[in-house]
Amino acid sequence: MNRDDYDEIAEGIDYLAPVPDDVLCEVVTRDGLCFWAFDRDTMPDLSGEVDPDRALAAAACAGCSVIRECLELELRAAGAHTVGIWGALAEDDRREVHRVWKWRHVNRRARGDEPE
Ligand code: SF4
Repeated sequence: MNRDDYDEIAEGIDYLAPVPDDVLCEVVTRDGLCFWAFDRDTMPDLSGEVDPDRALAAAACAGCSVIRECLELELRAAGAHTVGIWGALAEDDRREVHRVWKWRHVNRRARGDEPE
């Protein structure tokens, strides 16, 4: 992934900015695959992959219908301290997305397009 990828991912969840935390949480815990389709503790061992964290994120979240909502919720909840797999991204990638995501929020607030 590169800077353009992170920009694109952050832009792709802009539409979720007005959604309240509790609504996002309800949607993710209701529809997120890992909350009902499998046990997060029994995910495959992909340590032999070139990039195991990304491979695990892609495998674990494949087919989930709330990837964007999950990512938005995790960025709000954990911010730059995010760990594990959420929103189909490895934590290093999510931290990079968080930097762009935060910058986009700050700019929208400065323009008056988003409440404080
Ligand atoms: S995107 Fe991944 S971590 Fe998030 S709810 Fe879906 S399966 Fe779970």
